[in-house]
Amino acid sequence: MEGHNVMAAMSVGAAHAVKKAMEQFKIPGTVILSIGPAEEQLMSRPYLVREGYLKDVDAGIITHIQNSLSTGYGLQNYALIGAKFTFKGRTAHGAVNPWDGIDAVDAVELMDIGFDKLREHLRPTYRGHRTITIGGVQPNIIPDVGQIWWFIRDANGPWAKENFDKLVNIARGAALMTGTTMEMEPFGAAWPSLANKAIAEAIQKNIEMVGMPKWTEDETKFAKEVQKSIGTKEVGLASQVSPLRSDTQNTSSNDIGDYTWNVPMGSLRFPSAIPGVQAHHWTAGIAPTTSIAHKGAVVGAKVMAASILDLLTSPELLAAAKKQFELDTKEIKYFSLLPPGAKPPVDLNREMMDKYRPAMRKFYLSKKAEFK
Ligand SMILES: [Zn+2]
Repeated sequence: MEGHNVMAAMSVGAAHAVKKAMEQFKIPGTVILSIGPAEEQLMSRPYLVREGYLKDVDAGIITHIQNSLSTGYGLQNYALIGAKFTFKGRTAHGAVNPWDGIDAVDAVELMDIGFDKLREHLRPTYRGHRTITIGGVQPNIIPDVGQIWWFIRDANGPWAKENFDKLVNIARGAALMTGTTMEMEPFGAAWPSLANKAIAEAIQKNIEMVGMPKWTEDETKFAKEVQKSIGTKEVGLASQVSPLRSDTQNTSSNDIGDYTWNVPMGSLRFPSAIPGVQAHHWTAGIAPTTSIAHKGAVVGAKVMAASILDLLTSPELLAAAKKQFELDTKEIKYFSLLPPGAKPPVDLNREMMDKYRPAMRKFYLSKKAEFK
């Protein structure tokens, strides 16, 4: 929860403006709007890349909601590989005949302990976290099924793969030790996002041209009230655009990263969120229902549209972006972090969405989008 809906609206606005300009000024080219479903689970882009959807793309711009109007370049975040490991054994009564049972949750525990032993021997940059998704029913039943879901990260794709391969061996070991079977289901794969400096410079010019939204007193007051309620500094809303800077690599992940290692990609953040609000906390869902998000999306769409038009009309910019991309990807070459044969989990979240969609329906806007 952090306003991904605003990202889609902002991008549609930009696409509309670009289409109009291309028609009016007879600008040749093809512009594709690509929305990444299940981005938080890092589930869609690696498959789109694997299926060749980026094959003929020259350059692109990725976007994310933020509390600033800004761009940057360099590595932005971490690589991640996730998978669910399911162990299967045989059930038995815990007191009457436990010797007939094969405990699948033992395998889950041993896998957890095994990874804890490995931690000391991984690079200090790694991250490894897990949740036990199936842990048995009640104590007197030897569980015949157990499941543990892992996210393994590191600062680059090859390192994340190295760590993940070790994790798979630990899972095999846990199955061998317990006599269970083990099945691995991939759940997430992402390269770190790599933003292109040449495109960032073009975006920055447009950021400075468009500028921040003019916030009303009410909007600023509202932002301060939200900030007060969550115990963060009452700074209100950002009023200045941010200067161009190299990004600092954080330890989160986003599957847009896979795009950035295949095609030169700029990165644009737009001011539809309230400063100080933690992404993925429910309070991050407040701003996207207000005029703050709307105004932020409008300036974001303007910068996005102008930057795409720059890429369409300036061969020099495109050449510079390609040159920068070659430089950035000289040492590390892209390969898919998806295990061979991995299939996109298109049923992911289906049950949850079936449950909540009807309840959300009454909040849908019935207004038709208007572009002026
Ligand atoms: Zn996000």
